[in-house]
Amino acid sequence: MAAHLAAPPALLLKPGKERSLERRHPWVYAAAVARVEGEPDNGALVSVRGADRRFLAWAAFSPASTIRARCWSFDEAARIDGDWVAARVEAAVARRQALLESTSALRLVFGEGDGLPGLVADRYGSTLVVQFQSAGMESHRDRAIDALCARTGCADVFDRSDVALRAREGLPERSGVLRGNAPPALVRVHEHGVAYDVDVRRGHKTGFYIDQRENRRRLAELVQEHVRRTGRRPRVLNCFCYTGGFSIAAALAGAAQVLSVDSSADALALAAGNARINGTGAGPDGPAELRWDCADVFERLRELREAGERFDIVVLDPPKFATNQHQVERAARAYKDINLGALRLLEPGGWLLSFSCSGAIEVDLFQKIVAGAIFDAGSDCYLRARLAAGADHPTLMTLPEGEYLKGLLLERV
Ligand code: SAH
Repeated sequence: MAAHLAAPPALLLKPGKERSLERRHPWVYAAAVARVEGEPDNGALVSVRGADRRFLAWAAFSPASTIRARCWSFDEAARIDGDWVAARVEAAVARRQALLESTSALRLVFGEGDGLPGLVADRYGSTLVVQFQSAGMESHRDRAIDALCARTGCADVFDRSDVALRAREGLPERSGVLRGNAPPALVRVHEHGVAYDVDVRRGHKTGFYIDQRENRRRLAELVQEHVRRTGRRPRVLNCFCYTGGFSIAAALAGAAQVLSVDSSADALALAAGNARINGTGAGPDGPAELRWDCADVFERLRELREAGERFDIVVLDPPKFATNQHQVERAARAYKDINLGALRLLEPGGWLLSFSCSGAIEVDLFQKIVAGAIFDAGSDCYLRARLAAGADHPTLMTLPEGEYLKGLLLERV
């Protein structure tokens, strides 16, 4: 029968492996798949079925990845095509509309969080920067970009699909202009009144740590609170500062001194440029003293302690120390080491903003690691708040792995 022949290929799960999909977790692991019916291409639409053949989800097939399929929808009646993708993109953009009042740098699409596994789309002013991280999403590239441009009114799209992840999806790395004009060497954005220049061609991720927006603002509020409480402008240490996001937010809020450490000279050059475009070191009560220190944070924390330095606020926002489960133990030691080093520099009553962006380290474990550092430092701390990525990085309750960025705001007793 023609209708039967036209049916999309199917992934049949092993008996007992249906539960995670029934709970709407959107990843199908290779180990759960009993067999593949039909001959789906890389990225093709497949139905995922239980051992008894009952429908569980529509998904995109990834024959080379351990995540063998990424679910589009759990609704059997859904028709997954370009229109469907475009509608999801439009909904994602609409959800962020209010954010444009406070920032011109925002994430418009955050993969699974927006029902579009494998698509990241960021907006920097009038430039869109996209990443296609899965074969399924790659096959809908043009429709996704059409929808992004139509909904935002942006005409310039730059591709940063130069991520290692693509190899696992059988896709080559790619970077370059997709639509319109090439972006300028630096794209200027404004976030909560602070200007930042972003290198969308070569910067980390798509150029900027958009996910830390609310935490940069939180830091600015802490600086102001410190001034109110003590009558003194705080000394701030920003470790792993990259292009100076936290440093400049602190300086503009009234910090007396900001010492920023990073091992990348290129990132520090951009950071210093970002300070300049905001009026170097200008705070509400006079200029802040900004120092950009090209060094290894692990070593520098020890040296600062030996030199007897103290800070009122310390920020730790390291790179991902654990990229998978096997690296968790080693990463835990590294997190503990820097947190211990930071706590030893912290004045009583001072604040530590400590982050981890390792998806493999869950928030409970991270909190235990930092608690261990607090114990070793012989200091007590209050947990004032848990910090996370901003609202433009939505986390699905069914996919806890999506909550990769976690932070603790601690106050030293
Ligand atoms: N906090 C930043 C993002 C940090 S990204 C922001 O809000 O924009 C991580 C940074 O850590 C990168 O800039 C990288 O150059 C730096 N880095 C990685 N390992 C380091 C080390 N051992 N010492 C100092 N910097 C390091």
